[in-house]
Amino acid sequence: MTALAARGVGVLIEGTPILDGVDVTVRPGELLALVGPNGAGKSTLLGVLSGDVAPSSGSVELGGRALARHAARDLARLRAVQLQKQGLAFGFRVQDVVRMGRSPWHRTPQADDDDRAVASAMDRAEVTELAERLFPTLSGGEQARSSFARLLAQETPVLLLDEPTAALDIRHQEALLEVLRRTVRAGAAAVVVLHDLSLAAAYADRVCVLAEGRVRADGPPADVLTGDLLSEVYGHPVDVVEHAGRLVVVPVRARSLEEAPCPR
Ligand code: ADP
Ligand code: MG
Repeated sequence: MTALAARGVGVLIEGTPILDGVDVTVRPGELLALVGPNGAGKSTLLGVLSGDVAPSSGSVELGGRALARHAARDLARLRAVQLQKQGLAFGFRVQDVVRMGRSPWHRTPQADDDDRAVASAMDRAEVTELAERLFPTLSGGEQARSSFARLLAQETPVLLLDEPTAALDIRHQEALLEVLRRTVRAGAAAVVVLHDLSLAAAYADRVCVLAEGRVRADGPPADVLTGDLLSEVYGHPVDVVEHAGRLVVVPVRARSLEEAPCPR
């Protein structure tokens, strides 16, 4: 069973192909990391998967039904999205932002759960202490954790996150992915855009490498995260080493200025 499936997805913007023939699936209980260089099309693909970007070709199925055939309200009960750039949410406190995640459940029996869901999400994202703070006054990392809490509060079976760890310190990066892993083990499906390939190696069940709008590789981290593939896709030599039973991806660096190639 797939929770979410993109088939042959293409996106053209002003005649330029941004995505081309992309097939991606994610199952309940699975964490899929979406990786690839800047401009590869990761955010665009996440937009297509969430229904915010209409593909020029191909289709997306969510919960066994064409995305386009879900009403907006139903969509918001099936999938939650944490965008790369969050709106500034002027005038809203953190707890208000998190509570917005409950709006799809308004006037449903699940609304009885709102207080519990908000408190649990804030606890897991470690923003309980920020509850009364105004969202725009938070640091980038605190804003990202508040947006993560909002996504968790929505309690949907599918989670889509665009670079949720980009602004986080090392402890909060690990904590966020640990929470996601637990949520996925409890039955959710998650697609997470990550730049840190070692984080992807440690937490993802499957890694999809996107390059120039196409899927270059898709499989378990150990199959996909190889030095050869990553060096080619990123245009920089990369080593993949094993450490404490996990793969760690490190860029090859010159030891001195004399050894370093001139940057382009
Ligand atoms: P990624 O998230 O992998 O860095 P994006 O999906 O944001 O990449 O963008 C893929 C490519 O599409 C980039 O070259 C970007 O400049 C281009 N692109 C995305 N959205 C638009 C748009 N609305 N208009 C023009 N170009 C766009
Ligand atoms: Mg992006």
